[in-house]
Amino acid sequence: MSIRVRFAPSPTGLLHIGGARTALFNFLFARHEGGEFLLRIEDTDQARSTPEAVQVILDGLAWLGLNADAEPVYQSTRAGRHVEVAQALLAAGRAYYCYASAEELRLMRESAQAQGRPPRYDGRWRDRDPALAPKGVQPAIRLRAPHTGETVLEDLVQGSVRVANAELDDMIILRSDGSPTYLHAVVVDDHDMGITHVIRGDDHLTNSFRQIQIYQSMGWDLPRFAHIPLIHGADGAKLSKRHGALSILEFREQGFLPEALCNYLLRLGWGHGDAEFLPREEQVKLFSLAGIGRAASRMDYAKLTHLNGQWMRATDDARLTDDVAARLVAMGLPVDAMVRARLLTLMPGLKERAKTLVELTASAAFLARELPLPFEPKALALLGADATAMLARLAPELAATDFSPGALDGALRAFAQAEGRKLGEVAQPLRAALTGSTMSPGIDATLAALGATESLARLQAVI
Ligand code: GLU
Repeated sequence: MSIRVRFAPSPTGLLHIGGARTALFNFLFARHEGGEFLLRIEDTDQARSTPEAVQVILDGLAWLGLNADAEPVYQSTRAGRHVEVAQALLAAGRAYYCYASAEELRLMRESAQAQGRPPRYDGRWRDRDPALAPKGVQPAIRLRAPHTGETVLEDLVQGSVRVANAELDDMIILRSDGSPTYLHAVVVDDHDMGITHVIRGDDHLTNSFRQIQIYQSMGWDLPRFAHIPLIHGADGAKLSKRHGALSILEFREQGFLPEALCNYLLRLGWGHGDAEFLPREEQVKLFSLAGIGRAASRMDYAKLTHLNGQWMRATDDARLTDDVAARLVAMGLPVDAMVRARLLTLMPGLKERAKTLVELTASAAFLARELPLPFEPKALALLGADATAMLARLAPELAATDFSPGALDGALRAFAQAEGRKLGEVAQPLRAALTGSTMSPGIDATLAALGATESLARLQAVI
């Protein structure tokens, strides 16, 4: 049997990291097994499901490299099929019409609460003669659930989980307005899509018991279930805005690479020995549901940032240059072919020092600036009268080289020696004059990346 999984987000405005990790696990499982990864947009809540919210999910998945193997299925388009299955259950005697009014249901809830019982439908229409149906009332359809025995879920992550059927009431599968309930729609869609494994957050664990009852009532094969523990904040509390970024696109804005985010989310709750840095091919090779832990994992932004630094160093210079160029343009800095060439030249040094693309962009901005340069106070402090006089003596020495890093390094060393200064005493004011800051890659590489004309112009401006 070929493996088929799905990611089934409700488009409520953002793709959060919990959802992204669920999508990743499904994707990796499908790839590992040579199966298919499908996407179902659960847009039955028409008020909240806007085309923009759907687009946010599609963009987020595309950015993470988790594209589905087929066009997405929109749950809202399948309402007719949901009704059909409810009718089939009705015809088979596995479901029944319920005419209980909103008022009756409210009283039922209140009396259950008063007796300290969980609110349950009392089954009043389960065996009542439909001839007694009140006139003019549109009935809902309820599942005729078993009331004895137990429903067992052999979960691939949580193990064997069971519930006494007496605990579950007869749930509504079709509301009186003809719309399917969420639990029912998911089962019908998963069945029709041929889903073999339902991998989702463990907040859906209790839904599974009711969903299993629907499968069994239809005589359908059950999929395997794998409920993955949720992601919590570093303090163990439910993840919320105060813990930091939640939306995938927010991570993109903050300068994280999709590879780093996927790598981090995978390691969060799934392990394979000590392996931390895992490219996608490795992930696919190693992934298994058995490696998923049962405890809730804790989101650690510092760890993610560290991993992102590793990924940046492993990422191609041209790609980083493209990203930084776009961010510089967004900051209002001009990026022409010359600036791009400078970025590309200095990228090996720049990416060593930055943990995010935002940091990388900040450290590269001096390459795009036009005179006069803005100076950080610390840089300005390095450019006193003595230093600028020294730079005035240095400029012709640099101008006499071919501006290759090797020649520049030689000229700087010779100059420092002649001046009786340490190399750093020359390099620091020079760096301040060239970059407006106190940090940059090696001074020879920085000079070479800026080129002779621009470097000498920046020195002149300070002198
Ligand atoms: N639509 C549900 C959600 O966004 C997921 C349902 C499922 O995976 O079965 O949480």
